[in-house]
Amino acid sequence: MSKPRVAIFDFACCEGCQLQIVNLEEDILSLIALVDPVEWREAMSDQSETYDIALVEGSITRPEDAERLKTIRERAKILIALGACATIGGLNKLKNNFDLTEVRQAVYGPAAGLAHLNTEPTRALDEIVKVDFKVHGCPIDNRELGAILRSLLMGKTPFIPTYPVCVECKKNGVVCRFEYNEICLGPITRAGCGARCPSRGAACFGCRGFVDDPNVNAAQDVMAYYGKTVEDLKSRMALFAGQQEFPKG
Ligand code: SF4
Ligand code: SF4
Ligand code: SF4
Repeated sequence: MSKPRVAIFDFACCEGCQLQIVNLEEDILSLIALVDPVEWREAMSDQSETYDIALVEGSITRPEDAERLKTIRERAKILIALGACATIGGLNKLKNNFDLTEVRQAVYGPAAGLAHLNTEPTRALDEIVKVDFKVHGCPIDNRELGAILRSLLMGKTPFIPTYPVCVECKKNGVVCRFEYNEICLGPITRAGCGARCPSRGAACFGCRGFVDDPNVNAAQDVMAYYGKTVEDLKSRMALFAGQQEFPKG
């Protein structure tokens, strides 16, 4: 049986999630042995118009990028969004809070009017094309990416948690950040990072996006118990979820 052809593409982002692939170190060799890498700008000069799996990093901020993404979608059997920029728009969506002409001016100064520096409101990949699987996080957890790819290669549906970060946090025996008078988005954020931030003494800021069907009522009860308001919670969401619809309870 021929190996699946895998291509990796990037749009507007810091490329930190691709770096996480490189950070797999020895494990990358076992993964590469299972697939046929045909395009990856960061690591090889080859390009290809045919591939089975497209791993796509970054968000869409220009009309021409949206067209390129549609072409990738047409060519790929499976499209995987890689990291918060791709899955929810990520930090790039912060710019949607401002006038885009002012944003261009602030970033590019006198060069802001150049045609190739055009910009439009940031969109996540699934606001433009169908996305088959999402590897969440900013950056991604490379072990999770490895597990998702191995599942796909074995013909299984990858496991992507549908419970909140609090579950992993409790499993790790971590003292809740609310006890330190902090606001943590763990109750409404999708697990899968192993509660990376609370386990290291920082509150979750929601880089993995909202969990499916979040228990907003329970989150509100937690907030009320610690003397916080929903507005406090929303202010914590500004970094990653300010442009996402607040989940209904
Ligand atoms: S999700 Fe975070 S680490 Fe990954 S490309 Fe975007 S900004 Fe960089
Ligand atoms: S609110 Fe945050 S710190 Fe508290 S249990 Fe949930 S994830 Fe952990
Ligand atoms: S704890 Fe929250 S902010 Fe930290 S990695 Fe996990 S989802 Fe992202």
